[in-house]
Amino acid sequence: MSRGHQAIIVGAGILGLASAYHLLRNQPGLDLLVVERLAGPGQGNTAKSAAAFRDMFSSPVNRHLSQAAIAFYEHLDKFHPIGLKKIGYLWLATAAQMAKWARVLTGMARAGVRFQILEPRDLTARLPELRLLDLSQGILGLNCGILDPARLTKFYEQEVLRMGGNIRYHCEVAGFCRDAQGRISGIRLGPEVISGDGVIIAAGSWTGPTLALTGLEVPTIPRKRQLFSIPAREGPLSHLLATPGFNGHNLLPFTILPGGAYLRPAAASFILGFANPDQAPGLEEPPQAEQDFYEKRIRPQIVRYFPVFQECAPTHAWAGHYDEHPPDSTPFVEPLAGALVAGGSSGSGVMKADSVGRIVAARFTGLDVVQLADGREFRVAGLGLQERAVPPEKFVI
Ligand SMILES: Cc1cc2nc3c(=O)[nH]c(=O)nc-3n(C[C@H](O)[C@H](O)[C@H](O)COP(=O)(O)OP(=O)(O)OC[C@H]3O[C@@H](n4cnc5c(N)ncnc54)[C@H](O)[C@@H]3O)c2cc1C
Repeated sequence: MSRGHQAIIVGAGILGLASAYHLLRNQPGLDLLVVERLAGPGQGNTAKSAAAFRDMFSSPVNRHLSQAAIAFYEHLDKFHPIGLKKIGYLWLATAAQMAKWARVLTGMARAGVRFQILEPRDLTARLPELRLLDLSQGILGLNCGILDPARLTKFYEQEVLRMGGNIRYHCEVAGFCRDAQGRISGIRLGPEVISGDGVIIAAGSWTGPTLALTGLEVPTIPRKRQLFSIPAREGPLSHLLATPGFNGHNLLPFTILPGGAYLRPAAASFILGFANPDQAPGLEEPPQAEQDFYEKRIRPQIVRYFPVFQECAPTHAWAGHYDEHPPDSTPFVEPLAGALVAGGSSGSGVMKADSVGRIVAARFTGLDVVQLADGREFRVAGLGLQERAVPPEKFVI
């Protein structure tokens, strides 16, 4: 039996580390331990992420979580650069999609979400490489962009250490201790047992299998997601990447095509992805990107609207998993057998991590209401599962 801690967090991904950071900010001197099976911070799905952020959600809860976290990231970027670029999100939509989203867009506009509708002539004027085909309009989300997830995760990790938190890498939780009432009271790392007054589980898409070690279930589904990188150092692709007129960075916005494939600008390259709705749920270990998926499911969508990709091929690719929460595609923070579970980030955990971290810290401390980084209050139990107050998200990518 090793020395016990007041709080133990399982998982040093963006949700675990943001939670650790806010716990230590709320309770200076808290004896906190983060355990992570990989070699460093954010090496699970956080590192696999496209790390794009947006506040264009149909659900007011998702909007609040994102808007507050974006406010924090923008503030942070001024004194601790995290590669934040507000390049916007550009949905290229057919008439049928615009009709389907009309009410959602009206709701967002009423709620003050900043976006513009671009007519075909605006699109062709700004994007000469684009073939309009069946496109009817573009939707340009303005409080949206990209950041560097490694730098953001490193910030939280360094602050946790500076505030006296402990982090152990290469440590896999292989089981849990339960007290006489069945409450989780510690973790097992092989033969080593560590007790914790409180245990927080932020194991991303491994939350299900991790809790199954002690016979518990969570309503999340892991689903494989893949990204493909295409160099754009020169020629037509570099021109497309450096498209002026959309943002102050003279970069193409994060662009989503009618079929769901997307282009994410990166350093002298594009990252192409598609959250395939037909992807079977389940964990693939380790997850592999499939060339065939690029050729059959992504490339045709991209080349149809941007023929400049015709002759291009990915130079590298990777895969990870979304930790989906199917009822509403929104994260949850819920007590389970005495532990606190933060999961269900549903493909948007980086952009909401700071808010989820504040909610975890508040729930751990027993607060009913927490102030998020935009100054607005959030009712903590509303993100739980028992008293959940979250409508289904209709604007999923
Ligand atoms: C291809 C792809 C694209 C994405 N794009 C975006 C995007 O554009 N914007 C966005 O906001 N989000 C995006 N996401 C989602 C985002 O990556 C996740 O929501 C976020 O990283 C979740 O953070 P997490 O801390 O919950 O999980 P993770 O980062 O996976 O962290 C969980 C950690 O727990 C550790 N762990 C698991 N089990 C154990 C155990 N038993 N013992 C010890 N440690 C354990 C893991 O090793 C891991 O490091 C994307 C995801 C993928 C896969």
